[in-house]
Amino acid sequence: MKKILVTGGAGFLGSHLCERLLNDGNEVICVDNFFTGAKRNIVHLLDNPYFEFIRHDVCFPLYVEVDEIYNLACPASPVHYQHDPIQTTKVSVSGAINMLGLAKRIKAKILQASTSEVYGDPAIHPQVESYWGNVNPIGIRSCYDEGKRCAETLFMDYYRQNKVDVRIIRIFNTYGPRMHPNDGRVVSNFIVQALKNQDITIFGDGSQTRSFQYCDDLIEGMIKMMNNEQGFIGPVNLGNPGEFTMLELAEKVIQLTNSKSKITFLPLPQDDPKQRKPDISLAKEKLDWQPKIDLETGLIKTIAYFKSLL
Ligand code: NAD
Ligand code: UDP
Repeated sequence: MKKILVTGGAGFLGSHLCERLLNDGNEVICVDNFFTGAKRNIVHLLDNPYFEFIRHDVCFPLYVEVDEIYNLACPASPVHYQHDPIQTTKVSVSGAINMLGLAKRIKAKILQASTSEVYGDPAIHPQVESYWGNVNPIGIRSCYDEGKRCAETLFMDYYRQNKVDVRIIRIFNTYGPRMHPNDGRVVSNFIVQALKNQDITIFGDGSQTRSFQYCDDLIEGMIKMMNNEQGFIGPVNLGNPGEFTMLELAEKVIQLTNSKSKITFLPLPQDDPKQRKPDISLAKEKLDWQPKIDLETGLIKTIAYFKSLL
């Protein structure tokens, strides 16, 4: 039985990861400060004797003994990470330093939940891991983009300088049950608006694209990355290469919810990437991984979740 630390474990993705790791027969320590996470995401795990929750901010040192660390602590939605941008950079950078220091001391393997945002508004399409990105260092998204880029730098330097056993995954837009209904990300926004028959808010003209990955596919890739013993440390893209405009997404959500919602167009936020789609050749080759759940199937499951919540 492995002992595994999940930071940000009470969040959307963290809670799915904790659940999967417990189901696989591991002992899990979940650390979270509930900035964007919620007790309800993990309440069903609290009775499990192999699950332990610690309320803690990863900007401060943590002392636990574990075999593996999944570092997910960081708000992920633009609305939330822009709410307190200084804290977003702090959690990305200080959080990474604290968790890498812990991994170094206890000789644990550590995986960083990085992001497609390291590519910024990409000039290369689809995005390959060797692309260095097109990131504004002083814009409203920079706290997150540059924070995550610096975290990748720290992971690589702890690997080179201190021989810490690191893994870096670059996660592309991921959705599913347990997303916060007011989280502000596009899939949750559109589904909640559609279920309430409110206007669907498209930012800009809706021609910008994203690739949407269902959470279960990501968790599978994440665990495969942590468990690979071929010396492959990444960074590796984990995403679903299906590419949709926001207008297509809105129309799909309206259709799947039988909603009476109308589409409304609002100003496009600053530095909003025009296109995003992962090249997943590396993940296929190194991890024998590719997503299995298409957008429609994933949306149906997610709509059912939000229906039960609302
Ligand atoms: P989320 O906001 O639901 O989860 C983040 C969790 O981290 C929350 O539970 C929050 O309370 C916790 N947290 C924030 N600051 C903390 C701190 N200082 N100390 C301890 N805990 C803290 O978001 P998510 O979608 O589950 O994202 C999880 C991770 O995956 C993040 O690191 C995010 O950057 C990364 N990621 C997610 C996506 C996506 O599409 N969901 C895409 C790229 C990267
Ligand atoms: N978006 C939108 N309406 C919303 C929320 C988001 O049109 O209510 C757009 C946003 O401008 C972006 C895309 O949807 O182009 C994805 O936004 P999200 O915040 O989910 O993630 P991002 O990929 O931008 O980090």
